[in-house]
Amino acid sequence: MRIRLTETDHRDLPRAVDRVRRILEERVGPAVVRAAAPVEVSAWHAPGEPVPFAEAVRAEYAPFAVGTPWGAPWSTTWFRLRGAAPAAPAPGLRAELLVDLGFSAGAPGFQAEGLLYTPDGVPVEGLAPRRHSVPGAIAADGSVDVLLEAAANPDVLRDLSFAPTPLGERATAGLEPLYVLRRADVVLVDLEVRGLEADLVVLAELASALPEDSTRRARILVALDAACAALDLDDVAGTAARARAVLAPALASPAVPSAQAITAVGHAHIDSAWLWPIRETRRKVARTIANVLALMDEDPGFVYAMSSAQQYAWLEEDQPALFARLAERVREGRFVPVGGMWVESDTNLPGGEALARQFVAGTRWFRDRFGVDGEGVWLPDSFGYTAALPQIARLAGKRWLLTQKASWNDTNRIPHHTFSWEGLDGTRLFTHFPPVDTYNADGSVPELLHSERNFADAAVATRALLPFGHGDGGGGPTREMLLRLARARSLEGVPTVEIGTPQAFYRAAEEELTEPAVWAGELYLELHRGTYTSQRRTKQGNRRNEHLLREAELWAATAAIRVAAPYPAVALERLWRHVLLLQFHDILPGSAIAWVHREAVADHAAITAELEALIASSLAALAGEGDALLLANAAPDPRRGVAALGVGAPTPPRSGAVTADGSGFVLEDEAVRAVVDAEGMLVSLVHRASGRETVPPGTRGNRFQLHEDHPVRWDAWDVDREYRATAVDLDGPAEVRADGDAVVVVRRFGRSSLEQRLRLVPGGELRIETTVDWQEREKLLKLAFPVDVRAERVASEVQFGHVERATHANTSWDAARFETSQHRWQHLGEPGFGVAVVNDSVYGSDTTRIRREGGGTASLLRLSILRAARFPDPEQDRGAHRFAVGLLPGARVVDAVAAGYRINLLERTVRGGGAVEPLLAVEGEGVVVESVKLAEDGDGDIVVRLYEALGRSTEAAVVLGVAHEGVEEVDLLEDPLAPSALVGVDGGRARLRLRPFRIVTLRVRRPHGRRA
Ligand SMILES: [Zn+2]
Repeated sequence: MRIRLTETDHRDLPRAVDRVRRILEERVGPAVVRAAAPVEVSAWHAPGEPVPFAEAVRAEYAPFAVGTPWGAPWSTTWFRLRGAAPAAPAPGLRAELLVDLGFSAGAPGFQAEGLLYTPDGVPVEGLAPRRHSVPGAIAADGSVDVLLEAAANPDVLRDLSFAPTPLGERATAGLEPLYVLRRADVVLVDLEVRGLEADLVVLAELASALPEDSTRRARILVALDAACAALDLDDVAGTAARARAVLAPALASPAVPSAQAITAVGHAHIDSAWLWPIRETRRKVARTIANVLALMDEDPGFVYAMSSAQQYAWLEEDQPALFARLAERVREGRFVPVGGMWVESDTNLPGGEALARQFVAGTRWFRDRFGVDGEGVWLPDSFGYTAALPQIARLAGKRWLLTQKASWNDTNRIPHHTFSWEGLDGTRLFTHFPPVDTYNADGSVPELLHSERNFADAAVATRALLPFGHGDGGGGPTREMLLRLARARSLEGVPTVEIGTPQAFYRAAEEELTEPAVWAGELYLELHRGTYTSQRRTKQGNRRNEHLLREAELWAATAAIRVAAPYPAVALERLWRHVLLLQFHDILPGSAIAWVHREAVADHAAITAELEALIASSLAALAGEGDALLLANAAPDPRRGVAALGVGAPTPPRSGAVTADGSGFVLEDEAVRAVVDAEGMLVSLVHRASGRETVPPGTRGNRFQLHEDHPVRWDAWDVDREYRATAVDLDGPAEVRADGDAVVVVRRFGRSSLEQRLRLVPGGELRIETTVDWQEREKLLKLAFPVDVRAERVASEVQFGHVERATHANTSWDAARFETSQHRWQHLGEPGFGVAVVNDSVYGSDTTRIRREGGGTASLLRLSILRAARFPDPEQDRGAHRFAVGLLPGARVVDAVAAGYRINLLERTVRGGGAVEPLLAVEGEGVVVESVKLAEDGDGDIVVRLYEALGRSTEAAVVLGVAHEGVEEVDLLEDPLAPSALVGVDGGRARLRLRPFRIVTLRVRRPHGRRA
């Protein structure tokens, strides 16, 4: 255990602290181990990917000497360890197995780890750096006979140099062993000396942190001096009790009445994939939970919170014995499922339905296995928080949010730690940022003091939460952390510390702060702005499969109702869970190693194939026998004469005409006239109904711009504002030609090339489909559209609505928002006229104002197409890409919403007998169906999710095309909700009164339900 000093100049510290530090390092620390006996080691190096215990135990083990290297990157070595204690266990002495796999001083969770099993395969405890002496493997007589599954995980993050590394793929990581087995002993640990160590550490840290003129400090220094005097350095074990008695009064001096109250919650942040692949996360979960359960056996007051139903599900599958023990602790209330989400997802990029399903999948799983809901929202590490989250969370029954990521902001500081967060629809969510500014606390005195001094709401609130335990790569709390925290229960000079549940903390915090300050709108993270763009194939797979899931559920539900086809509930649940996993906050944002993204792209492709098959099967059942051409319109708006959500004969396709004029090509239909010049640039885009030109005079659109992209740190994560200093316009000569109804532009730049097809599509849209062969490094590719609209704000779609963000940089908050995210559309508007830009897979952008020839300003909207960071994936995003964007001159927001669905839901035709009436129709402009499905509980009820998309109060009706036995509003878990937006049901017509951006889930009771 090391002393954690505050930033005080060490020379100012009295000698007592320095003396204690040296005594700890040279005498007390070593005296914790009273005696040691080496164990007999043999090893088997698993040849490929990890194998189950049953296979490993049958392998051939060869003798293995301590001091021998082991472990090529990502490989697994199984060690068999057999031995006996050096002496019979005695009172005050505990036998432990001490194994040093070659741990470094680097962070736990980023290097070698292991899991100990009994010879019959029961996992007992994990081994990790700073947690490598454990009692769990020792038999009552002090003997040991265990198998150790040791994972040679490389430290990809190393010293935060962010240099390109081959370690992120097994194929490139090399075969050189990374580690040396340094020690493997059965030791006898002197618990009294371990107690003395903790006493000394806590008091020395406190003395070093207190003001020099503090009486408390002076008294602690005296006590430390006296304890040193009481300790015989040649007989630490024999005099430890005497020294502890000297320190006891200093440790017993209680906290002052105004001390803040910290609720410490055991935790391990386990990234579901990041600098390790998903398969390793599964083992990290097992190791961490083995540790947590061992600590719970020893300490009845220990409480641990864990999020992510997915991680519980992995444990249930991989380690059923551990899962059974975990479930018992959940019943006791000490192991606390939190979050209620499938994973700790990103919240900027997942679509509305997907973010809702994170909560549905997670909370349903917790309910099913444990009968609990997962309390509040637990997202300590996600990269900013969408303004849609409060409403979604509340509709999933969540009462609060925990995060600390806002402490990573590079410019501004959110002025509260405990507050009420108001989402885009006005829903409020009680929110706490642990002021300790980490989710990986270790319970040291400097941390407790940072939490106290940093707490922005100290004037009105006294309570803070402290999540403690090694994290990112898991590991969790250690015995040393518990020893420290126990000493801070009531200790003069630090906040009081109580180990408790998040639920107890939030209840007390809410009771104490009845009128919390309000923060309105998104919790934009002023960092990691590159995560809207990095690893575009992963993002594209996500966008595609979100929309295919919409189609698959809609057509499966329609087929179940119309033609009694079986509803593929099991397959849909599995596919949803898979997509939800891939929205984890280091996968969808693109901040994981190559291995993770290679798998994510392949997984998305497999999911697509399965969804396409499900859709084809539903539509075949619906369309029936026949050879008529039908269009299946999954969009919320009619398409080619086919009703929204229905199947019918489409009107003939229409496309604009292309004509050449002297300097380029003209694309024209009844709504739009566009001109592309000889260099492939968009020089005119006219909304014909109004006659208005939307390309500002003297500018050209469809302009790619290439920026140098060298963030100071966190390459795949960050776009630094300095990127704007250099921009190369790719507006030189290009190959431009007409091809049918399209204009084709081919352009080469650097080692890369791109080809675009520009054409007009019905709905007043200029569609631009681009394929890029991207071979750059450390560049950012933007696609710019100057728009002749004066707008101080740009509207961008988020989940179930949109947010407006400044196009200027008046305040430091506006300036820091120099790169933002959007879903399917953005809109720039003046009263009565606007322009929409829609996309099928582009999440990042920036929108600014430009001086307009002739006076005033116009807008410049630039989509972020590709990046090429070199860490953690040195080959990020190289290769072929495809994306589509659309421009809609004269579009209102409601048109943008419709076009956003249209570009993401490709026209789907099918041959069959005849039309299929939609299950429902919506009356009311701007009220949009997001999801149609059958109920999660298998009742056969129809569940329809819709939302008010324009940001206004309105009335609407859902007209049902099916027989029903009642309609009610339900929450996301499909349980009755009050107060309801449903004002009445007249026959087949459910009338709704909606406030801005209100999400409504309707459950349509079906006559065939199993209810009486
Ligand atoms: Zn994380």
